Amino acid sequence: MIEPITSMKNAFDLRGQNAIVTGGNRGIGFAIASALAQVGANVAILCRDTKKAEEALGELEAYGGQYESFYCDVTDLAGVRKAVADVYAVFGEIHILVNNAGVSTRTAFLDMDENLSEWYRVINTDLNGVVHMTYEVGKRMRDADKGGSIINITSLSGIVVHRDSPRSPYNASKAGINHFTRAMAVELGKYNIRANAIAPGYIRTGFTANPTEEFVRFVQSQQPMDRLGEGIEVGALAVFLASPAAAHLTGTIQVIDGGFSLS
Ligand code: NDP
Repeated sequence: MIEPITSMKNAFDLRGQNAIVTGGNRGIGFAIASALAQVGANVAILCRDTKKAEEALGELEAYGGQYESFYCDVTDLAGVRKAVADVYAVFGEIHILVNNAGVSTRTAFLDMDENLSEWYRVINTDLNGVVHMTYEVGKRMRDADKGGSIINITSLSGIVVHRDSPRSPYNASKAGINHFTRAMAVELGKYNIRANAIAPGYIRTGFTANPTEEFVRFVQSQQPMDRLGEGIEVGALAVFLASPAAAHLTGTIQVIDGGFSLS
């Protein structure tokens, strides 16, 4: 059992905790890595673009912990196995796994090529990437017998389907991860491993970089908090889910969308 907090002192403190953030080299993943680092966690960034990872590590330096990057293509199970082994060789153990790496698509389902390449590209990254990471890290968390926190970055697109933006493999992946998260919460609870998801709406990074005025007006017209979200706000939610304050939360899907999905 993970002991419940008895005061707010250190309730959000992650000093001494080691975290993996997939896709932590940029966008929301980097914002999460940075947020975790700012409350004391050591962070391993797993991604493909190692040059971008070096820049990210340079920015984390200011927080005084241990930060390393490792090449990893989350679609490749053997590659994930090697990367996770390398992380453990450097960090000893991992307490927090953030499955953030993801890709999207704009291809309508019936316009896909006859091999359904776009379908498999997105599913293999967004859904199977999470599965690969959870399998490799989850087994090690179980064997270490110290519990753990798994945080999956899904999307509002796993809950609703936007009419004018066809992205069926993305919708299916994110919905799949939401329920995979609940399944892991149930299966891994006996090992004191918690699993939760964060479902962001429109966040000002990556997929939505340099939004057009029209896009911003559209978002503003749809949501009570009339702006795009910021990566650090997703990072703050990840810190909460990883922290002792959230020790009784598992199997939840945390929507952070400025109220977009209400209307
Ligand atoms: P970005 O496009 O900025 O970043 C995507 C990240 O995923 C990169 O770090 C990239 O690493 C990594 N990645 C992609 N494919 C792979 C792979 N095969 N193996 C390893 N890493 C990979 O996206 P965002 O920061 O915007 O999105 C991050 C997450 O947040 C995604 O899961 C996305 O679905 C989710 N999200 C984003 C929203 C938004 O508004 N931005 C809204 C809702 C959800 P590399 O540079 O090495 O390719």
